[in-house]
Amino acid sequence: MMLTISGDLLARMHAHLEAGYPSEACGILLGDVTFQNGATRTAAKFVKDLVLAPNVWEVESEREGQRNRYLISPEDVARADCEANRQGLDIVGFFHSHPDCPSRPSETDREFAWPVISFVIVSVEKRKAATTNSWVLRDDRSRFDEEIVQVS
Ligand SMILES: [Zn+2]
Repeated sequence: MMLTISGDLLARMHAHLEAGYPSEACGILLGDVTFQNGATRTAAKFVKDLVLAPNVWEVESEREGQRNRYLISPEDVARADCEANRQGLDIVGFFHSHPDCPSRPSETDREFAWPVISFVIVSVEKRKAATTNSWVLRDDRSRFDEEIVQVS
């Protein structure tokens, strides 16, 4: 599995996530995906555009808030879908930040993810994008596998 993204788009993603700090920030990846024999593990995704979305998570409690949760509104997903159609692309993934936390998926991320789609997580440390990793949920939802991120 490999996700290819241009340096320009990656910089745009990082700027959006840094601007959202110390909250989690998020968005949607538009692009193309190709498979060999329909097997998820052979998926090669090419990111062609981003849709930047506000984090609309509203619950604030001692354990949960925008620092460790994010939510993309259905309207933003619909907007991304429209934009993808207009450009002849698909929604190939989602991205969000982990402010001052590692760029690996949380248990919550696993609960709300679904297979095939890429989940890019960027660790933002002190308002600076640090590490970028991409994760794909297994078909049986048991765990994420890391996919290679190639900056073109
Ligand atoms: Zn997360």
